[in-house]
Amino acid sequence: MLAERFPALLPDLNVAQSIEVSKIHSVAGLLSIEEPLVTRPPFLAPNHTDTVPSVIGGGSRVIRPGAISLAHLGVLFLDEAPEFAPSVHDALRQPLESGEISIRRADGSAKFPAGFQLILAANPCPCGFGYDTGDKCRCTAARRRLYSARISGPIRDRIDIVHTVLPVSRAEMHFRVGADGSTAAVSARVAAARQRQRQRFSDLPWVTNADLPGYEFRRRCPLDVESAALVEDAVASGCLTQRGADRVTRVAWTIADLRGSDRPNASHVRRALHLRSDAQLGEPPVASELVSWRV
Ligand SMILES: [Zn+2]
Repeated sequence: MLAERFPALLPDLNVAQSIEVSKIHSVAGLLSIEEPLVTRPPFLAPNHTDTVPSVIGGGSRVIRPGAISLAHLGVLFLDEAPEFAPSVHDALRQPLESGEISIRRADGSAKFPAGFQLILAANPCPCGFGYDTGDKCRCTAARRRLYSARISGPIRDRIDIVHTVLPVSRAEMHFRVGADGSTAAVSARVAAARQRQRQRFSDLPWVTNADLPGYEFRRRCPLDVESAALVEDAVASGCLTQRGADRVTRVAWTIADLRGSDRPNASHVRRALHLRSDAQLGEPPVASELVSWRV
């Protein structure tokens, strides 16, 4: 439910983005004369029973874009992520780094854009009852570990936010939803954060903290001495890889943007490390929603 609400938090596509996304949807034959342009960030939620070419791209004759390309500049949601084929997980690595996917076949190859925001949801075990005390779960510890390990280390290292969601009662849902948590209120904060990023990168061709290539991000977005020391300590203690350090820094900048700060402080970096920390344990997450966040 959270994942399906997510696209509503994102701003409209600008004209250039709209044309870029519409081209991909046009190639896939998904546009109509009545609605020839995609103006909102797309939301794609392929099922784990879908064919690999329909998720990644490919096809029997003409090479067509898959769900990961149709989600370009939008959101790709993989519910029950461990159930997807290992080839789908492997294929996500390239687009998560470069924002595009290369599809090679014996009779030709194609390259499609695939710069999506990835949201993964995972049950703690195959039966789905392993949350909280896990009283109803009958899965063995080994079976739980195997299930979780289907989301490989390289994919986990590219996940910026891990959030555990326990079942909530109807009454809790009713009382927890306040005005500050409404979609409209949160999307206004996201829009303000995007505006800060636009101003910061106004002389560059990129829009968000996630978009900047590593060299440009390190040059334009350094941390202060205290904050940088926190990240360096996490790397030195083995809790964080170098790639993880880069991603934590980007998330810290996004937290600062969302809170209206000019640059991140140590508190923002601690928050970014905390949001990622479950992913660093290397152990199966307990009742987790795994989320990659590119705001
Ligand atoms: Zn179970």
